[in-house]
Amino acid sequence: MASTGSRDLDPSDWSEFRRLAHAALDEVISNVESIREKPVWQQPPAETRQRFARSLPVEARELGDVLDDVRAHVVPFAAGNLHPRFMGWAQGAGTPFGMVAEMVAAGLNMNCGGRDHIGIEVERQIVRWMSEAFGYPEGASGLFLTGSSMANFLAVIVAKTNVTGAESREAGLQRADRQLVAYTSSEAHSCVSQAMQLSGIGSAHLRKIDADTLGRMRVDALKDSIRADKAAGFLPFLIVGTAGTVNTGAIDLLSEIAQIAREENLWFHVDGAIGALSIFSRSLKPLTAGIEMSDSIALDFHKWGHVPYDAGFLLVKDGAAHKQAFASAAAYLQRADRGLAAGETWPCDLGPDLSRGFRAFKTWMTIETLGTARIGDAILHTCELAGYLAEKVRESAIFELKAPVALNIVCFGVKGASGAVNRDLVLDLQESGIAAPSWTTINGETVIRCAVFNHRTTRTDIDLFMDAISALAKRA
Ligand SMILES: *Cc1c(COP(=O)(O)O)cnc(C)c1O
Repeated sequence: MASTGSRDLDPSDWSEFRRLAHAALDEVISNVESIREKPVWQQPPAETRQRFARSLPVEARELGDVLDDVRAHVVPFAAGNLHPRFMGWAQGAGTPFGMVAEMVAAGLNMNCGGRDHIGIEVERQIVRWMSEAFGYPEGASGLFLTGSSMANFLAVIVAKTNVTGAESREAGLQRADRQLVAYTSSEAHSCVSQAMQLSGIGSAHLRKIDADTLGRMRVDALKDSIRADKAAGFLPFLIVGTAGTVNTGAIDLLSEIAQIAREENLWFHVDGAIGALSIFSRSLKPLTAGIEMSDSIALDFHKWGHVPYDAGFLLVKDGAAHKQAFASAAAYLQRADRGLAAGETWPCDLGPDLSRGFRAFKTWMTIETLGTARIGDAILHTCELAGYLAEKVRESAIFELKAPVALNIVCFGVKGASGAVNRDLVLDLQESGIAAPSWTTINGETVIRCAVFNHRTTRTDIDLFMDAISALAKRA
C-alpha cells in the first residue's frame, strides 16, 4: 500500500484495506467487551512514550504496520473511563452504538457548519428533542459544541448581547452604560469564571454567591447581592445556576432562581453539564424542576448520556437572541432558496465554529438506539450505586462522608487523617489499576471523590473498590 504511483490518498488495494479495517473494528469491539478484565488505567511505559517522540514521517508505511503500533502503544494505555471502576472527575463511558456512529460519521466526513444536507437536519432533530425534553417552546435553538465549558461561554455571550444589543458586537462593552455583573454560586464550575474572562466582562464581575450546607446557591444571598449591585449602579444581567455541581452533584433551587431572574429581568442560564440529562429518568426528573423556566441550558451528552467524546450542547429558548449574538453576513457564506446553499439559519450563525464535525450523529444514534428510558435507567442506577457506596462509607470504621450525596457523587475521607492521606490513597488506587477515583477540596479539606457515571458499574465493582481502598488505608 506504500508507494503506488497513484496521486490520491485512498488505499491502492481496497480488499486488503477492508481486511485490515474489519480486523481493527473487531479488536476495538473486543476491547470494550472485555474491558472489566483489564486494569482501569496503566501508565504508558517509556518505550511507548518514545514511540510518540519520533520525527515527522515523510515516507508512507503499510496500514497493517501502523495498526500494530496502535495495538501495542495506544489501546492498552487509554484513559480508563470505559472501565466500570473509573470514578474520577465527571466522565462518560461511551457505548458501542456511539462508536459505530463515529465510524459512519468519519466515513461521511460532513462539514456541519452549514449548507443544506442531512447533517444539519440531524442536528435540528436533537434541538427539537431537547426542547421537548426541557419544556422549551418551538423556536428554541441549539448547537453542538466540544463541551459545557464552551456552551457556558456561549451562553454568557448570548446573555451579554441580549442586554447590550447586537450593536455591542461592534462597539464593544462600552455600549453598556453601566458595569455588567453576573451571579453564580461558590460551587459553580471554574469554566463559568473563565467564560466571564473570555467575554471581556471580567471574572471580577462574577458574584460567587455562598452555597448552603447542601451545596446549593443561597437564594436569599443572591437576592441581596442583586439589590446591592443595583443600588451601587451596576447592571446585573445574568444568573448561572447549576444542575449538578462538580464537587458534590448539588442542584440549585432552579424554580426559585428562575423567579428571581424574572423579577429582576436577568438572563437565567443553567449549567447542566452533569445533571441536566437526569430528566431522562422519571424518578430523578423532579430534582431539576424549574429548568424549563431558564433562558438557556448547557449540557454534556458525553457525560451521563455516554455519547463518545466530545458532545457538548447549548440550548437557547429565544432562537432570535441566540442568532443575533453570532450571525454575520460573509460573501462566501451567502444563502440561496435552493441548492446546497439553502436554509435560513446554519449552525455557523449560532456560534463561533464554522467548520465542524457531525457530533449530532453519535448523539442521535445513541438516543435512537437506546431510547431515553434506558439511558434514564442507567443514570438512576448510578445514583443508586452512589447511595450504596455512601452507605458502605457510613458503616466503615475507617472512612467518613465529607459531603451530602445529592446524585451520583460521593466525597469521603479517612477519619481524622490529613488531606495528604486521602490524596495518596487515590493515587495509589489509580496506580494499582483496580479503580480510579479522583480527589477534590471541600470546606478546605482534601477528600476522596467518587463520581459514579459509568453504566457498566455494578455493586460488585463498588464492593471491590471499597475492599481495595480499605486495605490500602489500613496499610498506610
Ligand atoms: C464537566 C463540567 C463542565 C465542563 O464541561 P466540559 O464538557 O468538560 O467542557 C462544566 N460544568 C460542570 C458542572 C461540569 O461538571
